[in-house]
Amino acid sequence: MAFKRFTDIRWEEGTCVSIGDDAFFVEVGVARVENPVLRKICDACPINVDCGEWALRHEEYGFWGGMSPADLNATRRERGIPYQRIDYGLSCA
Ligand code: SF4
Repeated sequence: MAFKRFTDIRWEEGTCVSIGDDAFFVEVGVARVENPVLRKICDACPINVDCGEWALRHEEYGFWGGMSPADLNATRRERGIPYQRIDYGLSCA
């Protein structure tokens, strides 16, 4: 996960690390696993607050801290949090 090197969040403690995070990345707004399942997993995750706060600031896709991309956008608007894209330096070229 490229984003790990941009934070000091202890991502290795995230519940999705042990179950695999593929299900947490959303394709065109449709989660591969039902959102209620992901929400339950995230609710029990020991780093869910840090994860959600990171995603509110820097992530556009995927399910983070119990929030879908739509949830992230709504919460950004509610809390006035600016989205700041990070260039992870991942290029297919
Ligand atoms: S809150 Fe959810 S997405 Fe974030 S690290 Fe935990 S399990 Fe993974």
